[in-house]
Amino acid sequence: MGKTLEPHGWLLPDDAPLRRRGLRSLALLGRVSLSFVLIHLLVTVLFTVSGYRFKVAADEALLGTRLNAIVQALPVVIGDDYLRELLAQGPFDAPRYEAMLQRLDSYAKKAGVDSIYVLTQRQGHTLFVMDSASAEDIDSGRYGEHLSAYASAPPQLAQVFAERRSAVVDYHDQFGDFRSLFMPVTGPEGSQLVLGADVSLADVEAERRGCLVLFLGIGLVTFLLGLLVIANRELRISQLAFEDPLTGLPNRTRFIMNVNQVIEAGDRPLAGLTVAIFDICDVKRINALYGYADGNVLLQGVARRLSAVLNAGELLARLPSDGFALLLRCDEEICLARLARTLDQPFRLGGQHSVMVKARLGLARYPVHGRCVQDLLCYAEVALDAARSQAVSHVFYDPELEQRRQQQMALLDDFDLAIEAGQMRVFLQPKASLQDRRIVAAEALVRWQHPRLGLIAPGVFLPIIEHNGRICALSLWLLQECMQLSRTSEIRISVNLSVQDLESATFPAQVEALLKHTGANPALLGLEITESSAMHKPEQALAALRALRQLGFSLSIDDFGTGHSSLAYLSRLPVDELKIDRSFITHLHQPEQQAIVRAIIQLGLIMNLRLVAEGVEDPQACALLAAFGCHEIQGYMIAKPMPAPLFFNWLAACAARWTPDAGAGAARSTVS
Ligand code: C2E
Ligand code: CA
Ligand code: CA
Repeated sequence: MGKTLEPHGWLLPDDAPLRRRGLRSLALLGRVSLSFVLIHLLVTVLFTVSGYRFKVAADEALLGTRLNAIVQALPVVIGDDYLRELLAQGPFDAPRYEAMLQRLDSYAKKAGVDSIYVLTQRQGHTLFVMDSASAEDIDSGRYGEHLSAYASAPPQLAQVFAERRSAVVDYHDQFGDFRSLFMPVTGPEGSQLVLGADVSLADVEAERRGCLVLFLGIGLVTFLLGLLVIANRELRISQLAFEDPLTGLPNRTRFIMNVNQVIEAGDRPLAGLTVAIFDICDVKRINALYGYADGNVLLQGVARRLSAVLNAGELLARLPSDGFALLLRCDEEICLARLARTLDQPFRLGGQHSVMVKARLGLARYPVHGRCVQDLLCYAEVALDAARSQAVSHVFYDPELEQRRQQQMALLDDFDLAIEAGQMRVFLQPKASLQDRRIVAAEALVRWQHPRLGLIAPGVFLPIIEHNGRICALSLWLLQECMQLSRTSEIRISVNLSVQDLESATFPAQVEALLKHTGANPALLGLEITESSAMHKPEQALAALRALRQLGFSLSIDDFGTGHSSLAYLSRLPVDELKIDRSFITHLHQPEQQAIVRAIIQLGLIMNLRLVAEGVEDPQACALLAAFGCHEIQGYMIAKPMPAPLFFNWLAACAARWTPDAGAGAARSTVS
């Protein structure tokens, strides 16, 4: 079976039935263009035929006008007196007559006609009075002599004499085939004359043929140009239908068609056929930092580099958003290493920017995971989701992932009613001042008391509801609960916000309405925002944060040190508190972590922020943080998060002051 090489190093089986099935949409396009071509052909023929007919009619009218003008001038050229002489049949001056014939001939030639003549009628016969003739014509007798009978006069001539009406007539006589204008005039002494001028019919036909050839040429060129336009348009449509306009790569539709062809052809070992979906983790960040133009440059750069390292039979396609699809055809480990190497060099964007990118892949194998490309793509997507949530570079599809996905979908369904059904719980975790060990604040952390699954941690359900855009409702519910709690408490209570809260245009107004409704004091309420959520759409986040700050909430940057925020941007945020991420505190016994934490604290102090260390579990970390100048700590060392009523009992029991013993006891006795 033969093979054809397609763009992007892509080998396709040369199998007609498969092609037919795969390219059904192309056939549809073909049918549409065939109708365009037929319509175009019809219009071209109509225009060409009517153009030709119009030109012929115009030429004929022009010839008539020309003959008319020539004939009108004839009496002037001959002169009335001479004409009278010729009609009178007096003494005949042959040399003068011949000179006049030659003069008429040269006038005729200059005027572009074959001959001009004057005819009269006597006793029912048509006679020549004069007929233009050259010297050669005169010598050879090829002209109508003075008052000789016009033997082969066309019948229309008798009609012109009789009806005294001009006529243009095609005819044949002893001199040849002509088209003539016969014009009746009244000559000297009331004589009835017919003046005539003729052109050879052969010339008329030749001109008409020339005109026909010209119009056929114009028609053909118009048709070909139209075909070019139609072909160009079809190409454009097919590009739009099957190509990604930004990168020029095949799009998802084309990818599905082509991979299906390979699978259905089955004419080569299909083992090792893997469909991968990957996305570039940094495109959103680049869009946010440098604008969409640079994000596009990055995507084009990725497409170019990857296209260059494809093996024969492999395919790269662009998926909607930031994703790419790949058909891989070699050992997966080798392929993955090749992809990693390819992306491992910085990408140069517009201006001075150069960025490194990370790709995340989900992979599904043929045929173990799926027997058609749609299934493989779907499973690769499931695997990619897993890679994203596990924050790893790639994940192979595993049926368990699908099972987990089903469970997540079920959880999402259950969540719809969870708030109304009173299944959500507020847990509070204290924050203590390092200066006087007083419990100065608490962080609200949500839990879900699921009727079947028991108490579910936020790490399990929050990513699912956030991924599906339903977190705002939960944030508002939690805020309302905390507002109620804050009315009877003297410590600050802070609530975590998600990126979607900051990007919702209505969120600040909804929070304001809640404040009014509960009558809570916003000075006792804080909002925690992670660096990454503030960086997702920086300008939108900034506007939301300013609005919330305006309402009186204090703001804090959560998980500080884990994001990629620029200090310039952070310094614009209207925040009051910096929470140093747990990961630094957990390893605080390491000198380099100490250096980082000390630097963060110094930075926070310069920016006039309150510094809170989270995840403090041991007295050594606590001592170091105090020495570095950190203001507050939060962590299991003080207490684990507790259901709100328990928290307030605990707070009363320890008189709002933390002692290491009380903290350890609480950590053992509370629920996390
Ligand atoms: P986070 O905001 O960084 O919250 C702190 C997390 O660290 C909490 O986990 C808390 O239980 C845990 N933690 C506190 N002290 C210690 C410690 O000493 N050692 C260790 N190993 N862990 C400690 P939790 O409650 O499971 O929350 C996890 C994350 O879920 C939170 O991280 C926050 O990002 C998110 N989250 C929790 N509740 C909400 C909420 O109501 N809304 C939003 N948007 N996110 C929430
Ligand atoms: Ca937090
Ligand atoms: Ca945190």
